[in-house]
Amino acid sequence: MLYINGEWCQAQSGKTFEVTNPATGETIATVAKGGAADTQAAIDAAQAAFPAWARLTAKERYTYLKNTADILRGRVDEIAALITREMGKPLAESKGEIGLAIDYLDWYAEEGKRIYGDTIPASSPSKRIIVTRQPVGVVGAITPWNFPIAMITRKLAPALAAGCTIILKAASATPLAAIEVFKALHEAGLPKGVANLVNGSAAEVVGAMMASPVVRKITFTGSTEVGKELVRQSADTMKKVSMELGGHAPFIVFEDADLEKAAEGAIASKFRNAGQTCICTNRIYVQKSVAEKFAAIMAEKVSRLVVGNGLEEGVNIGPMIDRQAVEKAQEHIDDAVSKGAKVVCGGSKLEQGAYANGCFFEPTVLLNATHEMKISYEETFGPVAPIFTFETEEEAIRRANDTVYGLASYVFTKDGSRMFRVAEALDYGIVGINDPVPTVAQAPFGGVKESGVGREGGKYGIEDYLDYKFMSFQLEM
Ligand code: NAP
Repeated sequence: MLYINGEWCQAQSGKTFEVTNPATGETIATVAKGGAADTQAAIDAAQAAFPAWARLTAKERYTYLKNTADILRGRVDEIAALITREMGKPLAESKGEIGLAIDYLDWYAEEGKRIYGDTIPASSPSKRIIVTRQPVGVVGAITPWNFPIAMITRKLAPALAAGCTIILKAASATPLAAIEVFKALHEAGLPKGVANLVNGSAAEVVGAMMASPVVRKITFTGSTEVGKELVRQSADTMKKVSMELGGHAPFIVFEDADLEKAAEGAIASKFRNAGQTCICTNRIYVQKSVAEKFAAIMAEKVSRLVVGNGLEEGVNIGPMIDRQAVEKAQEHIDDAVSKGAKVVCGGSKLEQGAYANGCFFEPTVLLNATHEMKISYEETFGPVAPIFTFETEEEAIRRANDTVYGLASYVFTKDGSRMFRVAEALDYGIVGINDPVPTVAQAPFGGVKESGVGREGGKYGIEDYLDYKFMSFQLEM
């Protein structure tokens, strides 16, 4: 179903699409496939709703967001099962993601109360300067499948808190979690038109958002390739843009690190969501003196990870999103092996018995990775951990920075001075220092270079939904 102007509806074209469970291949739902006409209706509704929504007090907007959070809090188990069925991640990870999604609603419900302005000393005794913050207007939001609920509230909550209205298009692989968020907004009594959901054809829905002069801002999370295209398209109507794009995270382990903790950290960062997160470790750089030892610890721990249907107890790694993703992981391994990498554990797709749907992949550790291999410069987005070696701190930093991406990076060391030296030298938006899972609602998430522009989370995340207004007063003295 689409949600436009406060009502659930089918697509005007009558078209639908199927949602399948990557673990089993079963069709779990058939949903409306929105197009350009539906998107235009949603834009019209968001435009009409904007003035009244923008005029509400922050406390009034707080109540809607807080009530939505409370409704979702009461449905964690139900929605977690839905997320696991539509995209595969283990149930515990789905629950964790919903917790994060709710955190964004809670955080921005409060943060909306702190949208402050400034007074500035004027250049003349008869003038006064006041700067206020105003919502940018109607927002178009586009989200990916790998975090089907948290990526939505990370945009929706600051947009609504700032006084903007919104049209959201969720990924076609995962429209069901998005529908649950909009059900909660509806039950919370959100005024009609303030938030609209149009899932469906990316070309048509996003195309209509991009072409519309009414949509003043585009916020996108997804691949760098699509993000670049949207930035190009946004030029025609000069939209404000926020881009949360791909990553290629380095994970640096110095010889003084606690190798057990570093290996656990690398596993937590690499294999979460079957390796399908933008901040997943993609390249593990280990100081040469401890590389063999670290690889052995990793391999022992990784070989104990259980691959299976995420709904089953004890499963650590669910299916990948589709067979194409499996093929990419296999291609990266084959390329690496042909150039000298050694498979320490895993290495292949799984296809027999419970894995027959073809979306499962063995968690893999590779040793002797080098920079000629595809895995060193392309985002794998799969459960493959390549280990590279380095000799010096300078070399580790140089090689970690040798990529077009700049989202997340990780450093494991016990040396306090090195923590600062390396963290400051890494050309990344996020650095986890002995911390493999840094994401929280109150901190700025986002990247530099081709990983994007803008930040989501914390006091920083609401900035992207606000414009400045400079008011200059000439007084009668
Ligand atoms: P994607 O293919 O770029 O898709 C993301 C969204 O864009 C989906 O809603 C998709 O719709 C839509 N889309 C696809 N092609 C489009 C086009 N030509 N024009 C307009 N919209 C289009 O990315 P994905 O495979 O879903 O997600 C994985 C990528 O997201 C990875 O690169 C990952 O690193 C990145 N990511 C980044 C962050 C971050 O915060 N930086 C967070 C999560 C993921 P359909 O589903 O209908 O095709």
